[in-house]
Amino acid sequence: MIDLRSDTVTRPSKAMREAMVAADVGDDVLGEDPTVNHLQEKMAELLGKEDALFTPSGVMANQIAIRCHTEPGDEVVVERHSHILNYETAAPSLISGVQLLPVEGKRGIFEVDQLRDVVRSSEYYMPRTSLICVENTHNMAGGAVIPLEAMAAVKAFADERRIRVHLDGARIWNAWVASGVHPRDYCRQADTVSVCFSKGLGAPAGSLLAGSRTIMAKARKTRKVLGGGMRQIGILAAAAFYAVEHNIERLNDDHEHARTFARILSERAGHALRCEPVDTNIVLIDIAPSGRTAADVRSRLADQGVLVIAAGTHMLRAVTHLDVARDEVRTAAEIFAKVMT
Ligand SMILES: *Cc1c(COP(=O)(O)O)cnc(C)c1O
Repeated sequence: MIDLRSDTVTRPSKAMREAMVAADVGDDVLGEDPTVNHLQEKMAELLGKEDALFTPSGVMANQIAIRCHTEPGDEVVVERHSHILNYETAAPSLISGVQLLPVEGKRGIFEVDQLRDVVRSSEYYMPRTSLICVENTHNMAGGAVIPLEAMAAVKAFADERRIRVHLDGARIWNAWVASGVHPRDYCRQADTVSVCFSKGLGAPAGSLLAGSRTIMAKARKTRKVLGGGMRQIGILAAAAFYAVEHNIERLNDDHEHARTFARILSERAGHALRCEPVDTNIVLIDIAPSGRTAADVRSRLADQGVLVIAAGTHMLRAVTHLDVARDEVRTAAEIFAKVMT
């Protein structure tokens, strides 16, 4: 099987497992796990924030951020195709009592004029807009890298209106490698940032939220409320640290593989499909020109040993990662092209 469903399917390598076995550990609820503390310090530094907090998942990191930036009854502006709106089981309404206001972006980011239209005035009968969320890279915009200038424009507008900005940076590593813009520079355009170690970086679990000391003190308490206070998790922090040290630069390979995949598909089956632009490791394939459904093509591909996901009625998504080699990606593209012709 060539598994291109997601970069979350990656398995911890032998070297990563060895780092986990060797990790020094302690009780992290008491703040005494040296490996977790080291990871948090190093990550705060890398992301240019005062403090950072390890979390079991990216969803929890995002939800803690939303809880810390809002009051019940507030409104949070999100992109229409964002992870927070679509894949976090309406958690903001359950955990924070806020409503989400989706705004359709272009390649994953909205313009300031669109924000100006939706941010509420201070009328007592309207919700208060307290937070804007940005996603970089943007998953369902096909791994699009959000330009630094676009993030800066959102932040400048938010500051002017006294609104906080949260960056869902689950794949900020991919944005860094693809654009050369340091995470610190992206993160300067947000009050908090969540990052994932378990996507393209290949750790078995773990995310992290970073922000100011004041926000992170509240975040630590909120993590406990959500049941995310864990004990000897230096073993997970060691995997995360290994991932950051060894698996960021190699994301370039994933990006190159994704471009190769899209190129082969376009060359051999361009009449039946259209690939969205490829910035990083995600390829969105619009098969509408073929008249076939994503569900049908997905199951035929699975029969031939290639796994992708249906991301819409006529849209398929393929993701390259650590556990698929260049020749497997080529093979998968060739099989895909054959299925379409
Ligand atoms: C994966 C992901 C998350 C976190 O999801 P988990 O299921 O908790 O790993 C958040 N945002 C984006 C954009 C993601 O791709």
